Amino acid sequence: MPRPVQYNTNVKLVKMPEGHIGEGFFATSFSKVVGLARKNSLWPLPFATSCCGIEFMATMGSNYDLARFGSERMGFTPRQCDMLLVAGTIAKKMGPILRQVYLQMAEPRWVVAIGACACTGGIFDSYPVLQGIDQVIPVDVYVPGCPPRPEGILDGILKLQDLVGSESLRRRNGEQYKALMQSYGIQ
Ligand code: SF4
Repeated sequence: MPRPVQYNTNVKLVKMPEGHIGEGFFATSFSKVVGLARKNSLWPLPFATSCCGIEFMATMGSNYDLARFGSERMGFTPRQCDMLLVAGTIAKKMGPILRQVYLQMAEPRWVVAIGACACTGGIFDSYPVLQGIDQVIPVDVYVPGCPPRPEGILDGILKLQDLVGSESLRRRNGEQYKALMQSYGIQ
């Protein structure tokens, strides 16, 4: 006798953007559609240098499962990724390398600083350690903690998703964004 099929009824669908719905049609703005696609398909590039990297590994594992948010496809080449996750202590010598990796990512690109070291240098208030990655590249979301738990990292990525989903398509051509890039010496 065939066994009854068990369906998982807990599957959640992505929330649809605001728009106008009618019989057989749904209309919204192009910007919202692009935002929806971008926010639910962020491809992470892990730049993990120390202990916070282990927390990131746990975040990718089956228990916390970053794949649930469309980010299961980790890339180890900057050219295929749009979300740079910096997890760990960054020495000043490593600053130019981090910056080079950032520059090799195509626009639009976003950065999350994971943990106290990436955000501020953490407990290493010493001459060889960069006192925050925002000294060399712009950061979109800061995740505090030493180390942050995987829930904290997930929370940071969800915050980034909110930013990405609501970002104007014109933002990166705007004067404010150009001024931000110029402040980092990026054309
Ligand atoms: S913030 Fe703490 S756990 Fe994370 S890399 Fe620095 S010392 Fe390690």
